This record gives sequence, C-alpha cells and structure tokens, in this order.
Amino acid sequence: MPFVLMGQTALAPTESGVRQGRLLVTNALVVDGSGTPANGPRTIVIEGNRIVAVTPGPGRPVAGDKVIDAKGKYVLPGLINVHAHIQDERAGWPMRQDYQFGVWLASGITSVRDVGSNFEKSKALREQSQKNSIVAPRLFLYAVLGMNPAPSVENEAAIRTRVRQIKASGADGLKFFEISDWAMRVMQEEAHEQKLRTAHHAAVAETNAWHDIKYGTTSIEHWYGIPDAALRDGVQNFPGSFNHQYEVDRFRYAGHLFRQTDPVKLGQVLDGMVKAEVAWSPTLNIYEAARDLLRYQTQPFFKEYLHPALEKFFAPDPNNHGSFFLNWTSADEAEWRMNYRLWMDAVRDFGRRGGVIGIGEDAGFIYNLFGFGLIRSMELHQEAGFHPLQVITQATANNAKIMGKEHELGRVRAGYLADLIVVDGNPLADFRILYPKTEGVPQSGKIEWTIKDGIPYHAPTLAQQVRKIVEEDRKNPKPRGVVTGGDEDAH
Ligand SMILES: [Zn+2]
Repeated sequence: MPFVLMGQTALAPTESGVRQGRLLVTNALVVDGSGTPANGPRTIVIEGNRIVAVTPGPGRPVAGDKVIDAKGKYVLPGLINVHAHIQDERAGWPMRQDYQFGVWLASGITSVRDVGSNFEKSKALREQSQKNSIVAPRLFLYAVLGMNPAPSVENEAAIRTRVRQIKASGADGLKFFEISDWAMRVMQEEAHEQKLRTAHHAAVAETNAWHDIKYGTTSIEHWYGIPDAALRDGVQNFPGSFNHQYEVDRFRYAGHLFRQTDPVKLGQVLDGMVKAEVAWSPTLNIYEAARDLLRYQTQPFFKEYLHPALEKFFAPDPNNHGSFFLNWTSADEAEWRMNYRLWMDAVRDFGRRGGVIGIGEDAGFIYNLFGFGLIRSMELHQEAGFHPLQVITQATANNAKIMGKEHELGRVRAGYLADLIVVDGNPLADFRILYPKTEGVPQSGKIEWTIKDGIPYHAPTLAQQVRKIVEEDRKNPKPRGVVTGGDEDAH
C-alpha cells in the first residue's frame, strides 16, 4: 500500500474486518479514558495492533495507509465488559456464538471478562479471538472455584490443589461464590501465591465484604456482601418462611437489604474496601427488572435483537436462574426502588472515598441483552450521580485495572493496544447513542467503528448481521443437537 501524506493525497477509507498497515484516525475528539475532558482534533496513529502516537491534528502531516476521518466524531477507548458470561445456549436452546460476540462488538465492547462459563470451550474461543480468526472481543476468563459446598476444614489441601489447577489451566483469574471463612482464607492465600485475581459473588453467607477486605479479594461482584457487612442488627430480618434456595424469596427479600443497614457501619465497610483495594463491579443493570418489570419485559431492543433462546430463558420459570418473576407486585418494586436508591448512593459514596468502580452487564439473565446491558449499566452509573467522564473511565480504564491490564487497555494513548470506538455523536451528552441501531430509539446506532486489536469493524454492519441471526433463528428456534452451556451463576 502506498505511503501518502495527509493533506497531500487523500487516503483511502478503511475497510471493515481487515487490519491496516498503518491506520490513521484523524480529526478525532478524544475522550481518553483517564477522566479528563474531550480533547481534539487529534490524529491517532495505529500500527498493527498498537496505538503508536496520538498527535494534535490536523497540524502536522502524518503518513498512513488507510484513514478513518473522525471529523465531528468522538473517539473513546473500546468499552470493557467486566462481568459477563460466554453463552451458546439458553434454557437448552442453542444460540450462535457470533450472535453474542457480534452484538458485543456492535455495542463498542472490545474486551470481556468472563466470570463463569464452560472453561474449555471458552479457552478455545479466547485463543481464536487472540489470533483474530473469529470476530470477537478480547476474552479474559475467570475459572469458577466450584467447590460448593467447600471441603471440610481438614481438607485444606484440596482447596490449594484446585487453585493451582486453575492457575495451570491458563485462567486469567478465579471466580468464587458463597464460601466459608476458613475456606476463603486458604483459597485467597493460595490465589495470592499463584498471582491469581479473584472475583467474589457473595451470598447471604458467613463471609461478607469484611472477609474480602481481610483476605484481599480483587473485586466484589454485584452487591451482596457489602450491605450484609453493615446490617444494623447484624442479621437481615427475614420472615419465618424464608428459604434462601427459593429464588422468588431470595430476590424478593434482597430488595429489603440496604434499608436494614447502618449508615455508619456501611461507611466503614466502604473505607475498608478502599484501603484494601477491593474494587466493586456492581452490575446495576442486572437487577433492574426488579424495580421496573414492565419496562424490562417491553424493551424496544427486543423486537430486533432478542434471540429466541433468550426469550425462552427470560420467561418466568423457577427452573431458569433469574427468571423469578412469579407474582411480582408493585410492593416488591417499591422495595427494590428504595434498595436501588440506597445502593446507588453507596456506589457513589464508594467512588467519593476513592474506591475503584468497574462496570459489567451480566447479560443473558433477567431480561438483559448482551451489549445493551452494558450501555444500560452506564446510564445507571450516571443516575447514581457520576459524571459521564467518570462513567466512561469506569467502563474502560477502571475495568482494565480490575483485570490488571491498566498498562495496555482502557486508554487512548501511545503504547496501548489499539482498541477504540469511533462515535458519530457525543456520548458525554447521551450514552444511548451507543446502543446498536434500534427501531423506536432514534438516537441509537451511532457507533461507527469498533476497533479491536487494530482491526476496524463497521459497527452498523455487525448490528445488521446480528439482527439477521435473530430473524433466521426465530424461524427455526428448536434445539439442534447437543448443547453444553455450563454457565454458572447465582445472582
Ligand atoms: Zn454473573
């Protein structure tokens, strides 16, 4: 390809899905992920899969092979989805992998932290994504500890063996659920020894955020464990009939949790997390149906983007995790709305105290679509009181930090991996422009390019392909062959 100088000969526009020798993104208004304001026009120079320069432009001519003219457009780091599950089925119905990966990229997501899926299958996908032999975001895999119930106290060796196995398997980190105090101590000792990051999805259990603080968990997922560590009376006031195993009960009374905390105790917990560098990935979107069920059941995105396997899975059914909306009442929603107010205040407070907050979507459950869930979560962080610049930092640089990748991901900066989005509009003014193009949401569909690992993908084309998959699979939604999803979660 000829080397030409900008301003002398017009560079050819880039093609989708092909890495260019030297790709220029010119005239860009850059929001670089660090929390500083938009800055431009700038020229971003990409060679291979790296950003090699971000220069003030269009001052000095820069040589390049292909160009994306970002005049009047915003360029952000590629979004990182810090809480996700790779899925290829729902409720026993198959769901094509390119549906999930395509909609993630179309939503500007260039990296995904998978916190529980079929590990061996996901590992193969991670490798294909690394080689760019499939169209997919970067995949970081946290293997599930999976010792539930934990082995007996005498069997410390089993826990250490399992943690070492996870390390040896090539996992990027370790995900754990409900766990006893001693087991968590042993597990964390070994995880630190093996330099494995840990993500904790707590339950109403003997361990809570204080144990994460004491034993050094990397991130607390969702929110359980935080209010639990700050209960006014030391225990939640469950009704006598409560059974934690029964999801309708569990989700209903989870909505009463924050109201039973002591604000002073809660502040101490948040301070403890800041000091111990325990991050928080609250996934605010994933419970939102509990405060607004009708909104979630009638999302405008469903018409074109709801895969039939997800549709089946989301329908209220006690057999499907998170599909607990049996007799969900206005009283339940009122409780959950109060819970959301206090939860959002706690997240905001944690940020003010200096805590690291990430954003993940946990989609594939509770009426949340892949990609759309992350953008909705960004809207909710804004509702919690964060400035849009802070929200973008949370969805990029902070998420990279939680994964220990802050020196190569999550910024528009020379030396970083070339993961960027080019947006034909101002996301600081409206995050909804980041949603893939949707009928009835006029501002949607403004991501023009999602650049992953130096490869530009035309986002509207990806979104169109996703809509086509949905259309086709709706014609034949019945299970075909054997499916082995194996995703684990217990919101
Ligand atoms: Zn999850």
